[in-house]
Parts: sequence; C-alpha cells; structure tokens
Amino acid sequence: MSEVATVLQLHDLDLLLNEALDPKSRARLKKLGFEVQDPVVLQRARARLLQGVDRRWVNHYERALKRYGRAVAVVRDRVCQGCFITLPTSASPNAQESLTVCESCGRILYWR
Ligand SMILES: [Zn+2]
Repeated sequence: MSEVATVLQLHDLDLLLNEALDPKSRARLKKLGFEVQDPVVLQRARARLLQGVDRRWVNHYERALKRYGRAVAVVRDRVCQGCFITLPTSASPNAQESLTVCESCGRILYWR
C-alpha cells in the first residue's frame, strides 16, 4: 500500500475514532442503530497503519489533526480545501504518488 493510501486510511480511522471516543456521538449513532466500534480495536489498527508511514509525515499528520480535527485536505483546482489558498504550480506532486503538505495550513494534501 502506498504512503498516500495509508495516510487516507489513517484519516478515515481517526474520524471513526473521534466518534467512538465521544460519548455524545456514540449515543447518537446507537440511537440510529449503528454499533460503534471499540476504540481499543481502532487504536490498535491505527498503530499498525502508522508503522507504514514515514516519521516526518506522521509528525505533520499528528500536528494538523490536533490543530484542526482533520489532518488531510483535498485539493481541487489547485486550491487547498482546508484553508482555501491557491497552491503554487510547483507544489503539485506526481498526483497520487507522493505526499505533500499545504504550506499555508500544514494539512496533508490529497490531490485528485
Ligand atoms: Zn491549506
């Protein structure tokens, strides 16, 4: 699995984890008939995914997650959807192959 794919999975997992750790979210989801997963299971999966990502990306990731609650921002038409700044042409990587960080907000960018 590529680092980009791993980071995206990590992000999905963290959103689930947020819900699993929040009593209000848990109650709301339960009411809707959804069983919320055990946070311990999610945390174990998270630790496993983290092993597949280079330390420096993990640092960027954790920092942005703490700051914004979401660590990954989609890029549309060269605009970071996290902070809405237009990214320089030079910031564009070989599309889905490598990770980049928004220089303005620090979120990990997902180019599509
Ligand atoms: Zn940004």
